[in-house]
Amino acid sequence: MSNRTLTIDDRVYDYLLSVSLRESDLLKQLREETTGIEYSEMQIAPEQGQFMSLLVRLIGARRALEVGTYTGYSSICIATALPADGVLVCCDDSEEWTAIAGKYWQWAGLEDRIDFRLGDASASLRQLVDQGGSGSFDFIFIDADKQNYPLYYELSLQLLREGGLLAVDNTLWSGNVADPENMEPATRAIRRFNEQLMADERVDISLVPIGDGLTLVRKG
Ligand code: CA
Repeated sequence: MSNRTLTIDDRVYDYLLSVSLRESDLLKQLREETTGIEYSEMQIAPEQGQFMSLLVRLIGARRALEVGTYTGYSSICIATALPADGVLVCCDDSEEWTAIAGKYWQWAGLEDRIDFRLGDASASLRQLVDQGGSGSFDFIFIDADKQNYPLYYELSLQLLREGGLLAVDNTLWSGNVADPENMEPATRAIRRFNEQLMADERVDISLVPIGDGLTLVRKG
């Protein structure tokens, strides 16, 4: 028994997966394909993908947005949890990695649900605002370059409806954020972002230690 969050060792982690992970063959194949390419550590953990699917279903999301798609694992977890007429807008600036995502969207029969915007994510978010998208999204996932988190966060908060849910990835950054000696630019950026969120009275927050740390933000 423990009244604080457990430190998960490999044995407990394997157990957790064995009794709760329901990963489709398609997602398993995508995860395996991604393991062989550059920056494969950017792919989210499978139990995190399943958790996000659950969140999307729980809030009955119809319109979702993802900032940073990479090879598509999280986008498939989000999009499959949307109703058939739901939409997931995906923003990413890599043609190479999102080509893999595109292949799997097609295999999963999700291409009608996905509105992919290639290019700089902050420009795509501003475009959504300009097109009248403010307050129109139920669920948003931020998982892109860490230095721009504050910018993505402000634009996303604007695009999110009241009561909507925003999930921000990598907020524990392999634990580096807790090491005062670690002054890497990305570590400092996430640390600063976490401190900003802590003080942001517009939202309710919870930092969930799943994957590399996932902060849930409810727009009040
Ligand atoms: Ca990530």
